[in-house]
Amino acid sequence: MSLSRRTLLVAAAGTTLAACAPTTSPAPPVPTAAPVPTAASVPTAASVPTAEPVAPEPTPTPESPAPEVPAPEVPAPEVPAPAPAPAAPAAVPTRAFVTARYADAVPAAWGLDVPGVLTALPRSAAPAIALTFDACGGPGGSGYDAALVATLRTHGVPATLFLNARWIDANPDTFESLAADPLFEIANHGTAHRPLSVTGRSAYGIAGTRDPGEVHDEIAGNLAKLTALLGRPPAFFRSGTAHYDDVATRIAADLGQRIAGFSTNADGGATLPAAQVRRQLLDAAPGAVVIAHMNHPDGGTAPGLAAALPTLLADGRTFTRLSDAFR
Ligand SMILES: [Zn+2]
Repeated sequence: MSLSRRTLLVAAAGTTLAACAPTTSPAPPVPTAAPVPTAASVPTAASVPTAEPVAPEPTPTPESPAPEVPAPEVPAPEVPAPAPAPAAPAAVPTRAFVTARYADAVPAAWGLDVPGVLTALPRSAAPAIALTFDACGGPGGSGYDAALVATLRTHGVPATLFLNARWIDANPDTFESLAADPLFEIANHGTAHRPLSVTGRSAYGIAGTRDPGEVHDEIAGNLAKLTALLGRPPAFFRSGTAHYDDVATRIAADLGQRIAGFSTNADGGATLPAAQVRRQLLDAAPGAVVIAHMNHPDGGTAPGLAAALPTLLADGRTFTRLSDAFR
């Protein structure tokens, strides 16, 4: 497995990263931070009129010593009066809260595989593999690989689709069709497709976010859009280029997003020919999280997938959406 990843690293190194094309190795499971309560509540299609913004003042712990995630004061369930609203959406921390909380936080890690990034399925789901497809949006990245999606549907193979806000804006009808299909889980691929950094680090020439507030915006912008469109927040996030620092991953956790890394790079940022895509897929280990792209219909991803799936299925391999694996 690591051999093919190395190969990919070389293959992807010089490629233009119209998409996110990286390579990596597995990481430990995410230390999911406890949900942080805050003022603003998630904009939802069906907003709950009764008990909405429960706690307007979360009192951000001001100067947190760098690596510690200060456990926020969970405002006691002081909501006796109004009848409990059914499934009230969780509150999403505001930009101001995130900015204050991480004002002095200094990242200690940067890359594809940092604390807080999930790169393999849990053991309970391990025989399966998770196919994930990114739609990056923006100039040159808003295409739709209909053949790829048709192949998944034909074989009944589930997948998790990471959609960028710009891609959704460019493909509203397709979005609706994908979101309505139980075969697919819709996930958050960022608002402007930026690497997630609190210090402005970049990846593949794409400028990263520059501070905690921008990290918040990059996650929360598309989180709000998807929550409104889907009627519930997406569970998983992957940044543009899939790069993070370890402060940014804590912010993502605060916003209720789990970060999906990957262990198999199937299409090298939508640059690999079909034969190599097929090879990468056939080599994916049980428990692998596979990254590829669904926004480059002229690339080798769809034909590579179409060539690999019958073999994988004949071999008894199974596939899972991320949320089904990380229950
Ligand atoms: Zn992308």
